[in-house]
Amino acid sequence: METVSDNSATTTPTKASNRQETGHTAEEQRTDWHTNLPFLGVHAGCLIVLWTGISPFAACIGLTTLLIRMFGLTGGYHRYFCHRSYKTTRAFQFVLATVGAAAAQKGPLWWAGHHRHHHRHSDTPSDVHPPGVKGFYWAHFGWVICPDNVRTRTELVPDLSRFPELRWLDRHHYAAPVCLALGLFGLGAWLESNAPHLETSGWELLAVGFFLSTTLLYHITFAVNSIGHTIGRQRYKTQDASRNGLLLALITAGEGWHNNHHRYPASARQGFYWWEIDATHYVIVVLAWIGVVWNVRTPPLEVLDEGQQ
Ligand SMILES: [Zn+2]
Ligand SMILES: [Zn+2]
Repeated sequence: METVSDNSATTTPTKASNRQETGHTAEEQRTDWHTNLPFLGVHAGCLIVLWTGISPFAACIGLTTLLIRMFGLTGGYHRYFCHRSYKTTRAFQFVLATVGAAAAQKGPLWWAGHHRHHHRHSDTPSDVHPPGVKGFYWAHFGWVICPDNVRTRTELVPDLSRFPELRWLDRHHYAAPVCLALGLFGLGAWLESNAPHLETSGWELLAVGFFLSTTLLYHITFAVNSIGHTIGRQRYKTQDASRNGLLLALITAGEGWHNNHHRYPASARQGFYWWEIDATHYVIVVLAWIGVVWNVRTPPLEVLDEGQQ
């Protein structure tokens, strides 16, 4: 069993002193609708539900694809790939990367590179999505469809790019979501003929299980960058605008404790206290119990004490 080493690029909560990487000025906040047609197409695909409706079975499938892929992003892309907050096998690392990629938010190297850059330059003009500098729309959505952010920041993810299977997933980031979409369509079409009492169809499972679920997941993820840096409470005096918010934490499976996270990014637990609900951490704890992951990092006592002062 090959263990993945932890030569992590977990970042510090302070602003980077290196300002050589300039951010976008207002004039440079460009959008490229043409190359983002697939991204826009996923949003447009939601309109299919106006025609198919949403059966209880399709709603269950949509919720399932939402929650599993959400963990792929929060527990996989964010807490594992960006911050290396726990260890696992190379095989399970690939599972996490594939489940995260199925959310159609590009590959693990692209996602981790931009996020590590965000922690280095949080809420400065160099940050790719600072709502206080570039506006709420840009922080939520605009930066994703800006042509300047298409490239993978490979210089920030050397620990990840040494794995050829992760590089492949990053290069072919459409593979996992396309397979999911086709699989759901095929399942729905098969059930329409073989289990008509479920009252579903290929088009319905495609619309609800993929298009609607993926679109919701986009905006849940983006809300951490937009709302998580504008609305809520700052427990820690970090040199950024990160906030803690219960509602955001409930919607994002624990990512809403974003001020905690900016204070100590290496922790697999973002709800630092028992009353701070963090669903992603609970799943990581279960995975640790069954031995799939280990060395799960938590905030040190001094950080917890600091938060209660
Ligand atoms: Zn942040
Ligand atoms: Zn982070």
